Amino acid sequence: MTVTAAPPTTFDSLDPATGSVVAAFPVDTSEDVAAAVERARPAADWWRDLGFDGRKKRLRAWRSIIASRLDEFAELIHRENGKPIFDAIGELSIAIEHLDWASGAAAKVLGRRRVGSGLLAMNQSASIEYLPYGVVGVIGPWNYPVHTPMGSISYALAAGNAVVFKPSEFTPAIGKWLVDTFAEVVPEQPVFQLVTGFGATGNALCTAGVGKLAFTGSTATGKKVMAACAPTLTPVVIECGGKDALIVAADADVGAAVDAAVWGGLSNAGQTCAGVERVYAVASVYDEFVAGVTRAAAKIRGGADASADYGPITMPSQVEIIRQHIDGAIADGGRAIVGGADSVHAPFVQPVVLVDVPEHSAAVQEETFGPTITIAKVRDEAEAIERANASRYGLGAAVFSANRGREIAEQLSCGCVSINSAISFAMVPELPFGGVRDSGFGRIHGADGLREFAWPRSVTSVRFPAPLKVTTFQHPKYARVLVTKMVRARWGRSR
Ligand code: NDP
Repeated sequence: MTVTAAPPTTFDSLDPATGSVVAAFPVDTSEDVAAAVERARPAADWWRDLGFDGRKKRLRAWRSIIASRLDEFAELIHRENGKPIFDAIGELSIAIEHLDWASGAAAKVLGRRRVGSGLLAMNQSASIEYLPYGVVGVIGPWNYPVHTPMGSISYALAAGNAVVFKPSEFTPAIGKWLVDTFAEVVPEQPVFQLVTGFGATGNALCTAGVGKLAFTGSTATGKKVMAACAPTLTPVVIECGGKDALIVAADADVGAAVDAAVWGGLSNAGQTCAGVERVYAVASVYDEFVAGVTRAAAKIRGGADASADYGPITMPSQVEIIRQHIDGAIADGGRAIVGGADSVHAPFVQPVVLVDVPEHSAAVQEETFGPTITIAKVRDEAEAIERANASRYGLGAAVFSANRGREIAEQLSCGCVSINSAISFAMVPELPFGGVRDSGFGRIHGADGLREFAWPRSVTSVRFPAPLKVTTFQHPKYARVLVTKMVRARWGRSR
């Protein structure tokens, strides 16, 4: 007789640096998730009816709680995700800016506004307003366990939705902290709830009847989420990975480019969706740039102590992918000028800088998500642009150039570009964030990010009888001649 073990009903979240248990969480079943979504439905109506001003007050009170308890929250992020306290504070400061902006801008972006009614409906007024979906499901990753899901949560809440949040299995305590503090300012209804577990719990959220699903994570999982949402036509916003390039033009401030490449590639142990993974440096500045990166990267160190520049690899299975990319790059003819194959000591990976790596190598093509950077020498800016664009990903990019930054940025096929800095676009609440191709679609942040969590309702209203009514079977006999003349007069001549 075969005895199959019952699936676990709880799981432990671990400190990735030490393996010690941070907290235990339930593995929520599809019934648990469905119940959370059902609880959220009346809460969503109540939250919507608070109106923009009522929600703004609550969201700003939540913002103040997060800000006043910054140290406590940063300490938890450090323990559960592994990143240094300073990085956790930085992540929180950006998330707070977004929360504040979304809560303040929602009325202007989503509230009813008049639009022109055009010639054909000149007797009518026309207006548009954006309405919440009701319950929004948010599935988040572990690498920026606050900033990333809050890019959906803050904007969905500001738009008037209730949210059911499934954090990564690696960062559930961080998700719980967010939900618990929100409940302090919104105690009346379960407007923001947590469900925890593994992929199956996320899948259950996709099929639980939410009005919209916001996913941030890997491209492979993003495809599964879309497939799970397809049968019910549940709309999705999909924020996936990247393989962002940094271009160093001939007229670049090389010192600034070095600093940005090293920080953009190595901070957060390289576990940044819009982190710098590839650099294309024009031949005339290549040697100076490589020498600078070599010096700077050699001083950076991953570890769990207070003086470490970055922490461990949060997800244990990622260590093997990083190792494979480094080994593959060297086997393909690349050279490690900082670190190398022996830089990988799970759970830490020390900085690795690779040069002469062929473009077909996994280290150039696939998301490494580790503290590694490839640097390639290119003939000119045109070749840098061509290689930067030759990727299945299209999330972000950085350009270093004194005079040609905008010109180069305009030729990059990706969702966000920073000129003379790295990843700055993520800090600007008014800028939409997201990618193209395998980096996903839809946008978080900015006005587009608010509209992502609301559907437009268009309304016309008759102000006075139309001089010539055409939307009737009772139209006069001369209507055909008149309309034909009118269309010809208006559009028939080429201008
Ligand atoms: P994953 O795709 O592994 O997981 C993302 C989330 O999806 C987790 O909560 C995960 O749960 C859940 N999940 C897993 N399987 C399913 C399923 N079948 N149905 C529904 N949900 C599921 O990504 P990671 O957590 O490893 O995050 C890293 C990735 O996120 C990188 O590719 C990174 O580039 C990307 N990312 C993109 C950002 C962007 O804005 N574009 C920002 C930040 C990260 P569980 O953890 O329990 O498996």
